[in-house]
Amino acid sequence: MRGIPRTHIVLSALFLMAAGLAHGAAVNTSPETVNLLDAAPKNGISVYWDTLTGSGMLEKDGRRALFHAGDQLMLLDYQKLAIIDPPRIDQGTLMVSLDFMDTITAFFGVDTVPQGGLYRVGAIVIDAGHGGKDPGAFAAHTIGGEKTTVYEKNITLAVSKLLYDQLSKTYPDKKILLTRKDDRFLSLEERVDIANAVPLGEREAILFVSVHVNSSLNNKSTGFEVWYLSPGYRRTVLTGSEGIEDKALLTIFNDMLEEEYTAESIQIAKSISDGLNNQIGSQSPNRGLKAEEWFVVKNANMPSVLVEIGFLSNSQEAALLSDPAYLRKISAGIYNGLTDFVRDFEKSRGFTGFQ
Ligand SMILES: [Zn+2]
Repeated sequence: MRGIPRTHIVLSALFLMAAGLAHGAAVNTSPETVNLLDAAPKNGISVYWDTLTGSGMLEKDGRRALFHAGDQLMLLDYQKLAIIDPPRIDQGTLMVSLDFMDTITAFFGVDTVPQGGLYRVGAIVIDAGHGGKDPGAFAAHTIGGEKTTVYEKNITLAVSKLLYDQLSKTYPDKKILLTRKDDRFLSLEERVDIANAVPLGEREAILFVSVHVNSSLNNKSTGFEVWYLSPGYRRTVLTGSEGIEDKALLTIFNDMLEEEYTAESIQIAKSISDGLNNQIGSQSPNRGLKAEEWFVVKNANMPSVLVEIGFLSNSQEAALLSDPAYLRKISAGIYNGLTDFVRDFEKSRGFTGFQ
């Protein structure tokens, strides 16, 4: 159980508009500058430009460069900064110098693929909710003719261990971690610290999946649901250590990174929801995706989801959740969702020339 959802959170609209919508009229400019919205697509580079915030993104083959009108820093692949000739807005049109075009064509060119090659998922952290002195939700039921108290902490551990075993077998080259392997108490901070302490390669991502069981005062409530971090929450992802002095620029880059983590969290949530639906959809209703600013993920600098696998307050679902065969189905559903996501992530973010 994670607590009562506070609000309905509506997904914010995509923060960047497609380039085609933002075309300005032709303007008189010096010959050294070009309209970025025309010039970039000619080089096979997509442009996303938000006139309201003056921020934009260039994308090609899954690689991205973030920039802001008037600023001389560009963020490459969310990791490296480049000094650029600042783009400027001239009578409503986004203009850049030929130097700027040289910088981005070099960045997106095949001869400048950075060392390390593909984006990949380097680690997956499986967080078994609650444990030790914190039982999570619990309820007494008569299951198979016996009076039994069902504890959330035991179910989350059983599912998490199954998931850990499956993922470890499939991905011997990725770090698969459990926040706990037995019945022990871990604070939320300790869970986040475990995830944030995982060493990663330069182009590696880490995923965080927290497993919980729901409970409701309404003992008719049943079903599974997958939560992701609300886009409304902003955290500091980039720190000043990257050499960014300009506080406003730092805020913009952080917002962009946050959008990226949110987009990926939604993708994982959808993928896990589909995976669970295939495994247990005929036995437990799919309550869909939900967004909230819950603690475990808001301090984890990585795409993160929380899975509520069913309601132990409902006697029929409590009986299912006490059946090892049903927990294997749940684990398989989460596993299928995760591996689908990993495959798509590594494909779309990778450089096809190296595969
Ligand atoms: Zn819980």
